[in-house]
Amino acid sequence: MDSYEIFGVNLKSANELKIMREAGRLNALTLKAVMDAIAPGVTTGELNEVAESFQKAHGVYSPFKNYDPGNGVPYPGSICTSINEEMVHGIPGNRKLREGDIISVDCGTVYQGYVGDSAFTVGVGEISKQAQSLIDTTKQALEIAISKMVIGNRSGDVGAAIEAYVESQGFYCTHTYTGHGVGRAMHEAPQLPNYGKPGTGFLLREGMTIAIEPMVLVGGRRTRVLRDRWTVVNANGGLTAHQEHTIAVTKDGPLVLTEL
Ligand code: MG
Ligand code: MG
Repeated sequence: MDSYEIFGVNLKSANELKIMREAGRLNALTLKAVMDAIAPGVTTGELNEVAESFQKAHGVYSPFKNYDPGNGVPYPGSICTSINEEMVHGIPGNRKLREGDIISVDCGTVYQGYVGDSAFTVGVGEISKQAQSLIDTTKQALEIAISKMVIGNRSGDVGAAIEAYVESQGFYCTHTYTGHGVGRAMHEAPQLPNYGKPGTGFLLREGMTIAIEPMVLVGGRRTRVLRDRWTVVNANGGLTAHQEHTIAVTKDGPLVLTEL
């Protein structure tokens, strides 16, 4: 064993972090290929094909495909494509992107048995001021959260910082969906919520690898799941955005595993 477990949380060795960094880099390249393909008229199914063919060409695959959380519908895509009021888990298909939409793309990559998990939100062509502000806020919330991923901080320090910033910009954080540990499995313990109380929650330790993912909503935090059993939407119909990176807690500070 080159990793060890404490209170159910896998702490990764330096060697495992090297592999996870490569998983994350390949995931970033996949997401970049998808981002470059985003334009009015393109379908979300076509974006899924871009991701799949990129991953195939690089000998990796997405852990999303056929992911089965027990809801009766194994996930059919390799990416999630969530448009406008859709917050996360939108299923790629025939829907065409339109000028003014915002789209969140979430993707995972498995490389040598380890997962990288990351997501971005971007506008399609010209977007509204509110949409741009929502995207900027979500990105900045993630940056703030990453800066808090240091040994000795607690999960509540991270969550509280995310929510305080998001609310200062007039938006809302989900309390229903959380960030999570990542490793050999896409979802490992522990969960890291997008809210919290400073000084509470689990202690950040060297070797933890956690996906932080602010999901930010306009008008309120309530969500509901569509009849496809996957797509999570803002219950009030307002816009949402999602930004995610997988972060390692190291002696030298936070290491973003899923950037280029
Ligand atoms: Mg993700
Ligand atoms: Mg995630």
